[in-house]
Amino acid sequence: MKVTKFGGTSCADASQFKKVKSIITADSERKIVIVSAPGKRFADDHKITDMLYLCHQLMEIGIGGEEVFTSIKKRFLEIQNSLNLAIDLEPELDEVEQKLIAGASRDYAASRGEYFSAKLMAEYLGYQFLDAADIIRFDQNGRYDENITRILIKENIVKDGCFVIPGFYGAQENGSIVTFSRGGSDITGSIVASALSVEKYENWTDVSGFLAADPKIVDNPMPLHIVTYDELRELSYMGAAVLHHEAIFPARQRGIPIHILNTNAPDEPGTLILPKAKRTKEDPILTGVAGVKDFMVINVEKYRMTEDLSFFRKLCSVFETNGIQIHHMPSSIDTVSLIVREDSMQGKERKILEEIDIYCSPDRIDITPGLALLAVVGENMAMRAGVSAKVFGALAKAGINIRMISQGSSEFNIILGIANNDFEKAVSTIYDEFFKQPLVKPASS
Ligand code: ASP
Repeated sequence: MKVTKFGGTSCADASQFKKVKSIITADSERKIVIVSAPGKRFADDHKITDMLYLCHQLMEIGIGGEEVFTSIKKRFLEIQNSLNLAIDLEPELDEVEQKLIAGASRDYAASRGEYFSAKLMAEYLGYQFLDAADIIRFDQNGRYDENITRILIKENIVKDGCFVIPGFYGAQENGSIVTFSRGGSDITGSIVASALSVEKYENWTDVSGFLAADPKIVDNPMPLHIVTYDELRELSYMGAAVLHHEAIFPARQRGIPIHILNTNAPDEPGTLILPKAKRTKEDPILTGVAGVKDFMVINVEKYRMTEDLSFFRKLCSVFETNGIQIHHMPSSIDTVSLIVREDSMQGKERKILEEIDIYCSPDRIDITPGLALLAVVGENMAMRAGVSAKVFGALAKAGINIRMISQGSSEFNIILGIANNDFEKAVSTIYDEFFKQPLVKPASS
């Protein structure tokens, strides 16, 4: 059995629904289907989820929410009517509108995109509709509850049945809807695949898998046919936006392969994500290069800091109590840099500096904004000498100043900090260096 998830563009309109149906009917193992809310049909179209968030916001202030809801309703009814479906969603859409007017929650509003998309898809495929609120459980604090979810999935999905499940949301025990973060239908698919220990999790989207670099920066980057979970985790955490980065964990727990495929080009090989990949020295050294802009570095200097056993604990607790995630923490003997997202600071820079001063008594602290992080990723890197030299040499030749370096002990990832405005140049420099002129084979191989 396979779990297949279709993203927003795959469910955008009736013609996309038809493509989904032909993919489903081409393989009898595709019994569990997870869907996103209808996405964009053309470049400047609106995603249903964005419209639902807007509608909720406008309803809260009492201006114009009904108009937005009318457009949302129209999109669903257009799909229903173009496919000549027997189901009539109109009464239920009207009920939802009333609930929104009466003050239903933001998460409830957002979830209705996936809910109605799944209702239509179930009817069109002749599969059973299974509400995510009945199988994906969140606890009282709004945290995903893996144990209960597993039980609910196994109880509700009977072997040999065919189901369509809305992605992106679940519910607390009292029925209140909770959503994952944006793009979270990928997570639903992975959770269901993992709970059922299926043979494969297919994630159908509008691109033919991962590329070695962002195509907005590099012309025609190499497609990646096979990547490992670890490589993908690094690449998607660092901005390669094909799959939600949290979608990797559930599938990985059970070693389930994730196959990224293109609904608009179903015959293309896509990217297969596996627990391990057989790589030889002849394969490319790098799997890919990705990155994210807009980080901030807080540099803290204190003579003999490592001799104060509580120094790092006190420093980190300043960030913990302010709810700020530390992404990296490179250090040298008397200095440490904390790397955080600029938008996570929410104007707390001054407060953070004052608290570090009080609790850690540093000799010097400063903040530098405008840092981009770049991940150079590839499990094959661990087997070769000279990879870092090649990365640093290429960046030096391109006149790019490296402001931070961090390499994990697993040795398949080098993280570099560079100025935001060097970001695109750095990505294309590294891509050209590794993918256009492969490293000369080591003499011993
Ligand atoms: N519809 C949601 C979003 O736009 C979730 C998803 O598509 O995965 O974020």
